[in-house]
Amino acid sequence: MTDSTSGPSILPTLAGCYADHDPNALPVEQAQAIIAAFVTPVQAIEQVALRSALGRILAADIISPINVPAHDNSAMDGYALRSGDLRADRPTTLAVAGTALAGDTATLPVAPGECLRVMTGAVMPEGCDTVIPQELTQAAGDGSIVFEAGLVRAGDNRRFAGEDLQAGTPALPAGLRIRPADLGLLASLGIAEVPVRRRLRVAFFSTGNELRSIGQPLDAGCVYDSNRYTLFGMLSRLGCELIDMGVVRDDPASLEAALRSACEAADAVITSGGVSVGAADYTKQIMATLGDVGFWKIGMRPGRPMAFGRISSNGKSAYLFGLPGNPVAVMVTFYFMARGGLLRMMGAADAPLPLLQVRAQVPIRKKPGRTEYQRGIVSYDAAGLPQVRITGAQGSGILRSMSEANCMVVLAEAQGNVAVGDLVGVMPFDGLV
Ligand code: AMP
Ligand code: MG
Repeated sequence: MTDSTSGPSILPTLAGCYADHDPNALPVEQAQAIIAAFVTPVQAIEQVALRSALGRILAADIISPINVPAHDNSAMDGYALRSGDLRADRPTTLAVAGTALAGDTATLPVAPGECLRVMTGAVMPEGCDTVIPQELTQAAGDGSIVFEAGLVRAGDNRRFAGEDLQAGTPALPAGLRIRPADLGLLASLGIAEVPVRRRLRVAFFSTGNELRSIGQPLDAGCVYDSNRYTLFGMLSRLGCELIDMGVVRDDPASLEAALRSACEAADAVITSGGVSVGAADYTKQIMATLGDVGFWKIGMRPGRPMAFGRISSNGKSAYLFGLPGNPVAVMVTFYFMARGGLLRMMGAADAPLPLLQVRAQVPIRKKPGRTEYQRGIVSYDAAGLPQVRITGAQGSGILRSMSEANCMVVLAEAQGNVAVGDLVGVMPFDGLV
């Protein structure tokens, strides 16, 4: 399926993308660039209620219909005053003309020599430009207040109309993945519904005769299928609509049927297993018959073999990410190859994840020549500075290394062994929002 395929593709065919590259030793950045150039975003837009927009991709720029805040107002509980009344050399005494609460509309006139008691958010009275916080003042009898010289400067504690957002200016850009602050910001504009791209539909299945599903007995030589669960988790976090197609046996008829029905139902198809070099299975063969698919050996570890392309069946087409079978490799290729492509298909604007530089707490073995994604744990040393160590054995089948980690240690292609104290690139798994 996919509404992104209306009309012939104006993009180069996948084979054309290889013109300058060797698919047998494809650097990570080039593989990522080919994927980015090849996929197209879903076009359909739906209007959703504000709360339902969380995590969705904004489909149009949002222009602020109003000033936020709408009026100049007080940033503190205190007294609004005219800065011309401030004394530089001795205490200032002002008569309190009344009180304005946040939300009060009519503000009392404030004459020179007077002030108005205001609460945070109260509209600044005409003529006043400064607020002295309540705790810096003392009562002076006769309904007056007094405060020492030098406690406030002209303009202090006053919020300007439109200082958060000005009417007519862009508040949020199309392509944004909507986060909690954005929901609040949209609410501050009085916006109840927003246009978002429709959810991306992703079908996924695991391949391999040795795979057993939870609930089945674990026959000799077999392993439980874990990839479908990590894929479920990763795709759910991206906000995709999921079609879990289970385990598919490594035989041509089953694989073809699964790939065809996945392709007819989804925008993207993700498989695991069967794409390694010299794999004695049919996955690659069937993928190749269904479309324009490249079988890459990417200069990365784990996750060297991967298939990418577009497959078609009965007039429907879908992008295909054929990920390797090893449980860590499937996660690493998902995060560093498929994720960017899927986000682009979802209509998201590029938003590179931060890669922080952190000191290595232990030596890290690394051969130059390919990008490595080692699983790390960031902690803090005695001085409170971040440091990173590796989660033990880094084999691509050791899923525990992912489970124990709180970050990915990204070691660039040219990097060699890392000594204690060297800075390494670290991508945290979890964020604040
Ligand atoms: P493959 O890429 O198909 O050659 O598989 C490489 C390794 O990953 C083999 O040891 C497989 O048994 C294992 N593997 C493949 N798919 C899965 C899966 N879905 N869950 C757990 N292990 C898997
Ligand atoms: Mg296999």
